[in-house]
This record gives sequence, C-alpha cells and structure tokens, in this order.
Amino acid sequence: MKRVLILGGGFGGIATARRLKQKLDPADEVILVDRREHFMVGFRKTWALVGQSTLEAGQRPLDSLTRLGIRVLRDPVTRIDPSGHAASLGDQRLSADALVIALGAELAPETVPGFQQYALNVYDPHDIPRASQALTEFQGGKLLIGIFGAPYKCPPAPYEMALLVNDTLKSRGVKVSVEIFSPQPMSLPILGQASCDLIESRLADQGITFLPNHKATAIENGEVVFANERRPFDLLLGIPPHRPPAVVRESGLVGDSGWVSVSPRTLETQFSGVYAIGDVVQVAMANGKPLPKAGIFAEAMGETVAERIVSTFKGQEPEAVFKGEGGCYLEVGAGQAMMVKGQFLAEPEPEVMLTEASTKYLEEKKSFETQRLQTWFE
Ligand SMILES: Cc1cc2nc3c(=O)[nH]c(=O)nc-3n(C[C@H](O)[C@H](O)[C@H](O)COP(=O)(O)OP(=O)(O)OC[C@H]3O[C@@H](n4cnc5c(N)ncnc54)[C@H](O)[C@@H]3O)c2cc1C
Repeated sequence: MKRVLILGGGFGGIATARRLKQKLDPADEVILVDRREHFMVGFRKTWALVGQSTLEAGQRPLDSLTRLGIRVLRDPVTRIDPSGHAASLGDQRLSADALVIALGAELAPETVPGFQQYALNVYDPHDIPRASQALTEFQGGKLLIGIFGAPYKCPPAPYEMALLVNDTLKSRGVKVSVEIFSPQPMSLPILGQASCDLIESRLADQGITFLPNHKATAIENGEVVFANERRPFDLLLGIPPHRPPAVVRESGLVGDSGWVSVSPRTLETQFSGVYAIGDVVQVAMANGKPLPKAGIFAEAMGETVAERIVSTFKGQEPEAVFKGEGGCYLEVGAGQAMMVKGQFLAEPEPEVMLTEASTKYLEEKKSFETQRLQTWFE
C-alpha cells in the first residue's frame, strides 16, 4: 500500500487528491490536511463585498471529500520535513511515499504599518462582512483600493473589484471618487501595454483613477503614504502583501524568489517525491516574469502532479507536464466579463490576451465555480 500526503485543501490540494483517488489502487491512501472547514473560490469574496451574493452560498465542507475516498484531516500543519516525506500536525507526525505541498499564499497585512488599523482586507474572507458593511454605510467621498505588494492572487481581481464597487455605489446614488493604486508599472504587466490601455481606459470611462508605480510604505490616519506623496481616503480597501505560510518558510524549500522553487513542468522540488503546487510556488515564464497566482493553475498543477505520482508508483516514466494554459476572469459590470487567458508557459514569450467583454464570459465565470462545487462536493 502506498500513501500520498497532501498539505493544503484549496484548489491545488483538492484537484491532486481527486485525481489520485481516480487513478491509484483503491488500497492506496490519499490524505488531505487543511485547518480550514470549507472550500470556497476566491472571487466569491468580491460578490459578497458588493452584496451580490454571500460567502456561505459558495462554501462547501472539506469533510465531504471523504465520500471520494480521501482521508481528510482538519489540523494545522506545524512542520514540514521534505527529506523524510513527512509533516507534523502538532504532536502527530505523518510520513508518506509522496508529499505534495499546496498550502497557498499567506496574507501579511502586518508588514504594512497601519494596514490593520485603517484598511479593510478584501482578500481575507473574515474581513469581508466588515468591508461589505462599510460599503453599505458609505455616504460618499474618496474610496481608495490599494495593492500593497506583488505578486498577489488573481491579478485582475482588484480591477474587477474597483469596477463593481464603483457600479454598486453609483447605483445607490452615492457620490464617490474611486482610485486604485498598484506598485506595478501597468495594471496587468503580463498583458503588455496595449491591453493594459484597454483596461485602464475602461477604468477611466467609469471615472476610476488608476495610479501605477505606487508602492505604499505605510497608512496613517486617512492617508496612504508613498515615497513622494500621500493619497487621502475616506474608505480604504486593501490587498495586503502575500508570502508563503510560515510552516513553508521554515521548511527550507523557499528559494531566492521568496516562494517554493520547483521544476516548472514537473512541479517537483529539489527533493525527489516532494512536489509543490499553486500559489505557494513561483514558476518563471519564458520572459523571466512569474506565472500569475490563480486557482486554475493550482488545479492543473495538482492534476499534473497526481498523474506523475501514479506513473512513478507503477514503475513507469512520468509523462504528464504542466502546460500553463488558462486564465482569470475580469468582471466589468453590466452583466459582462472579460478574460485574461492564454499559454503562459509558451516560448519564447508567454502568449496571453485580453478578450472582449461579453455576457458569455460572465456565464463562464459563474460556471467555473458551480462546476467545481458540483464535481468535488456533490
Ligand atoms: C478576489 C479573488 C478572486 C480570484 N479569482 C480567481 C479567478 O477568477 N480564477 C482563478 O483561477 N483564480 C482566482 N483567484 C485565485 C485563487 O483563489 C488562488 O490562486 C487559489 O486559491 C490558489 O490555490 P492553492 O491551492 O494554491 O491555495 P489555496 O486555495 O489558498 O489553498 C491553500 C490551503 O492551505 C491551507 N493552509 C495554509 N496553511 C496551512 C497550515 N499551516 N495548516 C493547514 N492548512 C493550511 C489553507 O487553509 C488553504 O485552504 C482569486 C483570488 C481572489 C482573492
């Protein structure tokens, strides 16, 4: 009997566990560890923020994955031992034939002075009810949306948030001026200037000011502080800096990028039989820039790793490779969405494009969630 230990039950971990259970011998054991109770797709936070839906409507209990034959342990991972293919969950040590690290990215609001005091953390589901309430009570003025570090999850999401928040407030007759800042030189550097111009002019058409090259150093009462200026706000929605979870930072697996280093096509770390997938890794594209952090990639990485583990267990040469195909949705209001999609690992350059806005992409975005909830949990 073989055992695979998967740390993290988000997009990547669940996709790995499911594919392994489909392909491995039924006697083989697949263990999934996560301290969270529920799975939920990332973009549901924005819908809940603007009052279009609730967080709860998109949450599914991780425990229900046991019906697929997956052993689910709802515990914090406290130590990772890559050379021993093992992890500790408090006092319990579990070792396995293969280890998959899918622990995602941790939000680090405390690294920006003033963030926890003055900003609403719109990437943290626990802060969404407070942020949604603040928007409901907002009587008008300056609303600032801040990207406080890069890389961050789903690069189009803050722009989607700006458009939807702006729409929501204006439809209530609130007089608001929305600004969004980023430390990056353009809205979505992966797209290049021409497509960024399309996004930025769409923001401008809605009266939203985009501030590129704005790296915030602190937040003080009513103002975000940058190297050479300060921007005032009445309400601040913040996307905090991201980093690997502490247990990963302490595992010795983090490379120069600040994230776990893996072989981009096989997702194997420097330890044979130890893989890392999803937001916790940094994969370089052919132009040297990092592959964006997105659930669609975490999922595809998980399926690749599962296939490779199955082949290895059968004594075959693994052939599955991660292709870097897919994309993220950018909802633009008025019942439409765009998509940033393509072949992110194409050579010699990533081939990524911005689609037109259409109702079709909004429907696709909705079914992106429903399909996963149905396939994984029902
Ligand atoms: C607003 C928003 C919109 C988004 N929209 C899209 C989109 O349209 N398309 C798309 O593809 N992606 C989107 N994403 C990104 C997507 O949510 C992430 O990229 C994806 O969740 C990454 O999957 P993962 O498996 O790597 O990590 P996660 O899904 O974050 O899972 C990691 C898991 O590890 C667990 N964990 C961490 N540390 C520990 C520990 N010490 N012990 C136990 N458990 C631990 C966590 O509880 C978590 O469940 C969006 C994200 C946001 C915030």
